Amino acid sequence: MAQVLLVEDDPAIRTALIRGLTERGHAVDSAAAGMAGLQAAVGNAPDIVVLDLGLPDVDGTVVLRMLRGASRVPVIVATARDDEQEIVAVLDAGADDYLVKPFGAAQLDARIRAVLRRGDGARPDETVVVGGLRVDPRGRRAVLDGRELDLTPREFDLLHHLAARADEVVGKRELLTEVWQLPYGGADKTVDVHLSWLRRKLGETAQAPRYLHSVRGVGVRVSAPDA
Ligand code: CA
Repeated sequence: MAQVLLVEDDPAIRTALIRGLTERGHAVDSAAAGMAGLQAAVGNAPDIVVLDLGLPDVDGTVVLRMLRGASRVPVIVATARDDEQEIVAVLDAGADDYLVKPFGAAQLDARIRAVLRRGDGARPDETVVVGGLRVDPRGRRAVLDGRELDLTPREFDLLHHLAARADEVVGKRELLTEVWQLPYGGADKTVDVHLSWLRRKLGETAQAPRYLHSVRGVGVRVSAPDA
């Protein structure tokens, strides 16, 4: 069970989701507009936020960006359109998952549980193990098959960020935001160059990847070689 904040302006959808999530054991708080939702998300510290994109006062994407300036609370975005560009944009803006309307409380509940499980995984200071790769953020050491890697600080941060989210595709925009701390600027090329250096230090190539897998047009994923 989680403390859920539902930001949704449509009263029928809001009522149905509140009822369905409550029946599934969640405690649900709700807001009918973007700014009220932002206030509740920051002020009430919910476990997770379900954010509609089409809101009467400010667009949900703007709410998400503002929220990300203040909080790492998991966010599931609800979008009315199955628009790939929009979905990529909200994931890049820091959403943890998305659902395309219409959806029911059962599906939303499953996504909420999946996102919260994911969040339980790696604490920021915990050593991350992916196959033969160990990344220790406290000691800032990365070891591959028992051999310590000689990484620059940026390469280390990049590898740690990707390894902490193993098996997930991470967008280049997110890497620029999270690793380079460049919110809206920066070029994908910067990421590509560092990825190629990292790849060389891991002893692999883009053509024959072991840990570092590029997903064309989307981003990059770290996975164990046999996964
Ligand atoms: Ca709406």
